[in-house]
Amino acid sequence: MRTCEICSGHRLRQLHRQTFLFPGTNRTGHYDVVTCEDCGFTYASDIPSRAEQEAYYEASGRHLHAAHVPAGLAEAHRAFYDFIVANHPNLATDSAILDIGSSMGHFLNLFKSAGYRSILGLEPSSMASTLARDTYGIEVIPATLEDFHPGRQFDLITLCGVLEHLTSLHDLVSGIGRLLPDRGYLFIAVPDAASFGEREPREPFLEFALEHINFFTDQSLDNLLRPHGFERVASLSQWNDFYANRYLLALYNHGPIERPAPVRDESGTDSVARYIDMSNARLATIAGKVDALADTGTPIVIWGAGSLASRLCATTRLPECNILAFVDVNPQLHGQTLLGRPIHPPEWLDGRREATVFIASYVYGAEIRQALADKFHWGDAIVTI
Ligand SMILES: [Zn+2]
Repeated sequence: MRTCEICSGHRLRQLHRQTFLFPGTNRTGHYDVVTCEDCGFTYASDIPSRAEQEAYYEASGRHLHAAHVPAGLAEAHRAFYDFIVANHPNLATDSAILDIGSSMGHFLNLFKSAGYRSILGLEPSSMASTLARDTYGIEVIPATLEDFHPGRQFDLITLCGVLEHLTSLHDLVSGIGRLLPDRGYLFIAVPDAASFGEREPREPFLEFALEHINFFTDQSLDNLLRPHGFERVASLSQWNDFYANRYLLALYNHGPIERPAPVRDESGTDSVARYIDMSNARLATIAGKVDALADTGTPIVIWGAGSLASRLCATTRLPECNILAFVDVNPQLHGQTLLGRPIHPPEWLDGRREATVFIASYVYGAEIRQALADKFHWGDAIVTI
């Protein structure tokens, strides 16, 4: 059990069990989405071990997009940047900016392009560091926050899509506090759990990807940060068209430390519970299509071997289907297996008309259909979800 990282509570209520298939291993794992009965924080308990998560990161090559930044990520980064510039009262081109979990510096590059001169990234990967230098001329230190001792402070620290992935949250926030002077600023962007149940999800359980283990609302984020002297100065729930979900953008000012009691988060649990109901309904529709393929033994090729495919393999009858192979554009997946079937590049489809293509992607669904028509002159043998 993972004790509540915000209030240390251990009275948890389970809302959902999410199962996954680990790429390359054919082993399933799970985590439990729970709510803390004391402070209302929703998060994942009984999470896969660090080793399993790292193996997953390694296998899927996530968060490194050397060739091109996905459109949705670029769009989100632009919104984060605009929000900071609009709400930070005294950001100047010589302000010292640190991006924690910077990957290869895509987000920092927006500041660089706008003339900011003192920018630094932190990412525990030497590959990210090399890519940042070669691609953008940006310095990224290949270290974790624990091992980072710069001997100076920063005017602005940013965490874009980072906090939803991590454990030991209070240690992290207190470490960040040490890197900020009095009145320094912290920007955080996380998926907005208060919006999860707002509308029919396009992709069922998208928010419960293996690496997403904290589901913050503005209240639970305040509950985490205020004991460390952070006061929220601005926040915004920002829609992203590409991923069809909302991010919570929040800017905090660092000041003297008081120890306010957490305010119970009333919105997260209801929203997450509604989201689970709606995702289950979406999943039932997909499961119906998978049932038909399983019952008829139709030979299929699954286009998409990422996080959605991994969840569908663990939660539908896909393992009973007559799967010839998976295809995916991500070169890091090629040569690996899912359900014991190889993952090939899409070109492998050339001339293989005996199969039906099952498209396991929403985000790239239209693009994949287009490629099937234009590149492979594929007929009607396509199943979309
Ligand atoms: Zn709690």
